[in-house]
Amino acid sequence: MKVIVLGAGIIGVSTAWFLLNEGHQVTVVDRQPGAALETSCANGAQISVSFCEPWANAGAPLKVAKWLLRDDSPLLFRPRLDPHQWRWGLSFLGQCNDAAFERNVRQLVALGRYSHDALKGVVAATGIEYQRLERGILHFFSSAADMAAGTAGAELMRRYGVDRRVLGRDEVLKVEPALAAFGPQIHGGTFTPSDESGDAMVFTQKLAALCCARGATFLHETAVDGIDTAGGARGRQISGVRVRSLRHGRPRTLVADQYVAAMGPYTAPMLRQLGIWLNIYPAKGYSATLKLKRPNDASVVSLLDDTRKIAISRLGDHIRIAGTAELAGYDHSLTTATAQKRCAALVRRYEELFPGVADTTQPNYWTGLRPSTPTNIPYIGRSRLPNLWLNAGHGTLGWTHGAGSGQALAELISGKRPALQFGFCGDALPASKPFVPVKAPITART
Ligand SMILES: Cc1cc2nc3c(=O)[nH]c(=O)nc-3n(C[C@H](O)[C@H](O)[C@H](O)COP(=O)(O)OP(=O)(O)OC[C@H]3O[C@@H](n4cnc5c(N)ncnc54)[C@H](O)[C@@H]3O)c2cc1C
Repeated sequence: MKVIVLGAGIIGVSTAWFLLNEGHQVTVVDRQPGAALETSCANGAQISVSFCEPWANAGAPLKVAKWLLRDDSPLLFRPRLDPHQWRWGLSFLGQCNDAAFERNVRQLVALGRYSHDALKGVVAATGIEYQRLERGILHFFSSAADMAAGTAGAELMRRYGVDRRVLGRDEVLKVEPALAAFGPQIHGGTFTPSDESGDAMVFTQKLAALCCARGATFLHETAVDGIDTAGGARGRQISGVRVRSLRHGRPRTLVADQYVAAMGPYTAPMLRQLGIWLNIYPAKGYSATLKLKRPNDASVVSLLDDTRKIAISRLGDHIRIAGTAELAGYDHSLTTATAQKRCAALVRRYEELFPGVADTTQPNYWTGLRPSTPTNIPYIGRSRLPNLWLNAGHGTLGWTHGAGSGQALAELISGKRPALQFGFCGDALPASKPFVPVKAPITART
C-alpha cells in the first residue's frame, strides 16, 4: 500500500521504518528541514522502560496545587481560556486514583518492554550509533521522606516485573562514582540496570536517512495544512492531504491508501478539523546541553534527580540536563522570564551536583512540547476514519516508546496483531483472535 506519514519525529520515522519492513511505499511529510527537529530533538535521552509512572496518581492533585504558584516548580499549570486545556486537566484529575494509576502503569510497562525489544532490533539491523549507553538509570533522593516514597515506588513497580533496585548511599556512589561530591546530601536511590540512554535526534535522523535509502520519500519544509475526506457518513475516509511547500509556497494534495497522523502535540488540533477529538495537550519542557570540561569526572549512568525532577544523560563529550513541565499552550519561547529562569535552574543544579565538570558559560538551551495525554498512554491504532491511523500522544516517553509504537502501528496497518497487551484505539486489531483487554487488579498503593 501507499502510506503517508504526517510528522518526522521519533514516532513518524519509526513508523516509516517498520512500514518499509512490511513492504509498503512510504512518504513522510514534515514542516522542518530535517527529521526530529521539534520535540524529539534535545530531550532527556533516557530509554526509560522501568521508570514509566504517569504523572497522574492519587497524590498528584495536592502536589500540583502546592506547585501552582511557584515559577520554578517541576510541573506548572498556567490556567488559560482554553477549553482543551480544561478538558485535559479534568481528565487528568479523573486519572488521579490508584485504580487508574495501576491500569496505566501496566500498559506503559508493556509498551516499554515491547519497544525496547523493537529498538534493539533496529540497532542490530542497522548498526546506528547514537551515543547509546546501556548503563541503566539511577534515581537519587536527597531526603529520607523522598527516599521512603522512592522505595514504595520500587516495590510497586516490581509487581509488574520491573527490576528496580533500592540502594543505600554507598551503593548509589558505587553505581555512579561521579556523584561523589554531592554524596553527603544523598539519602539513597533506586536503580534500573536494564534501562539505557542515547541521543534521540541522532537516532531519528540516521533512521530517516536509512528509510530514504530503502525507498521512502521525505518531503521536508512541507506544511500539512489540512486533511480532506470523501464519502458519506458511513463510508467517509481520507481522500488526500493538503500540503504546502515552505520554500515556494506551492500547495498540492497528496494521495495514498493509508495515512498516519504522527504530528506530536499538533496532532490534536489538526484532527479536530475532522471531528476527531484527541485529548493531547502540550507540556513544555526544557533542556540544557553542556560541553564537558572534565569528561572523566562526568556521569555515564543516566540519572534522575528526585529533588528537581530532572534527567541527566551523558552524550559523548556533552551532558544533557532536561526536565520540568508547563501546561501553558503551544508556546515555544525560550526568551520569556519563566523560560529563562527554568533553563538557568537546570544549569545551576548541574553545577551543584557536579561542580566544575562542565562548561556552564555556553549552555545550549532547548525547549520542546511533550504531546501529553492525561494517562500518559499514547493513541496507537485506527481512528474512526478507516484509512487514518494514529500514532501520537507519547508525552514524557516518546523516545522510550518510539520504536515499539512504530512497529505496532505498522503491524496493525498490515492486518497483523502486535505481540503486546495494549489498548490500541479504534477497531485496530484484526478480528480473528479476540483481544484480551488489560485488566488491572484494584490494589491500594503503599
Ligand atoms: C524536556 C523533555 C525531556 C524529555 N525526555 C525524554 C526522555 O528522557 N525519554 C523519553 O522517552 N522521552 C522524553 N521526552 C518525550 C519525547 O521527547 C516525546 O514524547 C517525543 O519526542 C514525541 O515524538 P513525536 O514524534 O510524537 O513528536 P515530534 O518529535 O514533535 O514530531 C512531530 C513532527 O510533526 C511535525 N509537524 C507537526 N505539525 C505539522 C504540520 N502541520 N505540518 C508538517 N509537519 C508538522 C513536526 O515538525 C515534528 O517534526 C522528553 C520531552 C521533553 C520536552
